[in-house]
Amino acid sequence: MKENIAKIKKLITSAAEKVGRDPNEIILLAVSKRKPVSQIDEAVALGQLDFGENYLQDAKEKISALGDNITWHFIGHIQSNKAKLVAELFDTVHTIDRLKVAIALEKRLASLNKVMPVYVQVNISKEEQKSGVSPEEMGPLVREILNLPHLSFAGLMAMPPYATDPEKSRPYFRSLRILAEELVHKKLTEQSGKVGLSMGMSGDFEVAVEEGATVVRVGTAIFGARI
Ligand SMILES: *Cc1c(COP(=O)(O)O)cnc(C)c1O
Repeated sequence: MKENIAKIKKLITSAAEKVGRDPNEIILLAVSKRKPVSQIDEAVALGQLDFGENYLQDAKEKISALGDNITWHFIGHIQSNKAKLVAELFDTVHTIDRLKVAIALEKRLASLNKVMPVYVQVNISKEEQKSGVSPEEMGPLVREILNLPHLSFAGLMAMPPYATDPEKSRPYFRSLRILAEELVHKKLTEQSGKVGLSMGMSGDFEVAVEEGATVVRVGTAIFGARI
């Protein structure tokens, strides 16, 4: 695992430098879904502090076992009746895809007196089976989120269609970056110029970094294949 993480960091650095970006602005999010607490512990000992989880029940056990030195990112699909638990357990959410979920999170966060950075998931490839707002619905949803005091809009997230060739992901990553740039131009966010991009996984994170990713979500390349 030590070698895996070192290698990934090196690749992130060279991809960033290739396009003149500062590698330090890129967060490596270790996706620990279906991986045991012992493996997360091992990664923490190596200095890895951001982890992503998809399944609430699983995550609940891990979070209570591992404590709060870790920044926990929710990257799974959110059912609105589970938003309350997401608000309680997690530090940030990458998968807001409708107003109902944003409002449910806001409600619980307000009562916890907690502000949460959130990403809006965009169905950038317009695949029917995929979660995420359409590129057209993205702006209106972001506008609504900016009015919710306990949600802090952090950026956009997307998952391109599965492909073995990472270059196939590039146009999708680029589209997401262009959407983010449009938000900046419209001065929709107070932190103008700071719309994050959560994109890139084990197979295509280097291309994602070249296209502007600020968070790459990497599971298999750190922990090995999931059974
Ligand atoms: C599982 C998952 C990842 C990590 O995928 P790998 O190919 O194992 O790196 C990233 N993002 C999301 C949303 C996931 O569900």
